[in-house]
Amino acid sequence: MDQVIITPDAPMPLAGYATRNAPFQGVDTDLHAKALALEDASGNRTLIITAEILGFPSSLAEEVCRRLRQSAGLERKAILLNGSHTHSGPVVALEMGWPPAGPNEESIKDYVARLTDKLVETALKSLRNMQPARLEWGVGVAQFVTNRREVTERGVVLGVNPRGPTDRSVPVLRVATPDGRIRAVLFGASAHPVTLGGDHLRVNGDYVGYAMTELEQTMPGVQAMFVAGCGGDASPFPRGSIEAARTHGKNLAAEVSRVLGGKLKPLGGPMRAELRWVELPLKKFSRTDLDRMSKGAARWQQYFIGGAIGILDRGGNLPESYSAPFALWQFGGDLTLAAFSGETVVDYVLLAEQRLGPLNLWVAGYSNDLFGYLPSARVLREGGYETRGLYMGYGLFDPSVENVVMDAMVEMARAAGRRVQ
Ligand SMILES: [Zn+2]
Repeated sequence: MDQVIITPDAPMPLAGYATRNAPFQGVDTDLHAKALALEDASGNRTLIITAEILGFPSSLAEEVCRRLRQSAGLERKAILLNGSHTHSGPVVALEMGWPPAGPNEESIKDYVARLTDKLVETALKSLRNMQPARLEWGVGVAQFVTNRREVTERGVVLGVNPRGPTDRSVPVLRVATPDGRIRAVLFGASAHPVTLGGDHLRVNGDYVGYAMTELEQTMPGVQAMFVAGCGGDASPFPRGSIEAARTHGKNLAAEVSRVLGGKLKPLGGPMRAELRWVELPLKKFSRTDLDRMSKGAARWQQYFIGGAIGILDRGGNLPESYSAPFALWQFGGDLTLAAFSGETVVDYVLLAEQRLGPLNLWVAGYSNDLFGYLPSARVLREGGYETRGLYMGYGLFDPSVENVVMDAMVEMARAAGRRVQ
C-alpha cells in the first residue's frame, strides 16, 4: 500500500458544478490518491487505486494502466480505479468541458500530467511494499445517504427524496498482518460527495476526505481508502456547509470503526479479476427528433442536443454505442466485488442482488471510466438529470443498457467462479 497527496499546487478550475466560473481560491483539506496491491497464494495480483477526484475518465485510467502494464507487467483486468467523486476537486480531463477549459487549458494539462505520474508511482510503490496479510470484511450502515430524485409537478428534479431508494450499506474490508495488526481499510458509501455546493470555491474532499482523515488519525499507520458505491442518484443529507461535510465524515468513520471492532468474515483465495468492455447501447435520433427536443430543453439537455445537431449538420452519424469497462473481482467463495463504471444509479445494486445473488456481495460504482451517468430503465423512463448521457462525445442511453450491463456482470461472475443461477 502507498499514498500520495494530489492537491493542485496552483489555482485551477474545480470539477463537478457547471455553475462555477473561477479557479479555486484556497485549500480546506488535501486530496489523496492511494493504492493497495494484493496477491493470493498462487501469485495472482490485483491493484486498487482510489483518488479524491471527480472520477477517472477513460483517458486518465487507460494511461495509468498502460504504464503499469509496461513497468510492472500488470494486466488491465487486474487494476481497478475508483474516484471519490468529490465536487471540490480539480478538473481531471480537458475534454470534460465543465467548466470550459478555455484559458485554464494549460493548468489542467499540467495537473493531469503530474497526477498521472503520481498515480503510477504510488501504484508501483504499493506493488513493491506487499507483505503477508489477512483479509476480512463486514458491512455497516450510513444514515446520511438520501435519494436525490425529487418528484415535482415539473418532473424529477435534483432535490431530496426521502422515500426514494438508496444503498445505505457501508462495506468494510480490513487488511491486517498475520498476527492481526490492521494495516489498511477499504470502505464504501453510496452518495455524491456534494455536501459542499457550487458556491464553495476551495479544495475539499467533502465527507469522504473527512472520513478518511478521521480513520487515519484514530488508527495511526493505517491507510484508509474510499471506494464509491452506486450513489449516482443519492446525496448526503443535510448539505450546504463544511460543518455538515465534517459531521457526515465523522459519522461514516465511526461506523467503519464500529464494523472493524465487530465480528468480520475472513476472505480466502483464489483471487480472480475479470474485466469486460461492454458496448452500451445509445438511442437513435433524427434531426427532426432533436429539433423537437430542443424546445424547452433544460440546460443539462442542451449539451447533447446541441452536440448531436452539430454532428448531423456536418454530415456525420451519431454513435450507436459507447464502450465502457465493467469489472468483477472474486475472493474465493467469500466475496464478490462488482464494480460498475459511470455514475451508477442505485437500481444496479438491486439488479446485482437479483442477478448475482445478494450474499457476499460488494457493489461499487464510479470505477474505471467516468463517462457520464449509468441510468437504469426505470430512471430513463422517469426522466431527470441522470438521463443526460455521455459527458465526452454525444449520446443518450437506451433502456436496454440495463440488461446489456447485467448480462456482462453475470458472465464475469461465472468466469470468476461465483455461483450464479
Ligand atoms: Zn455526479
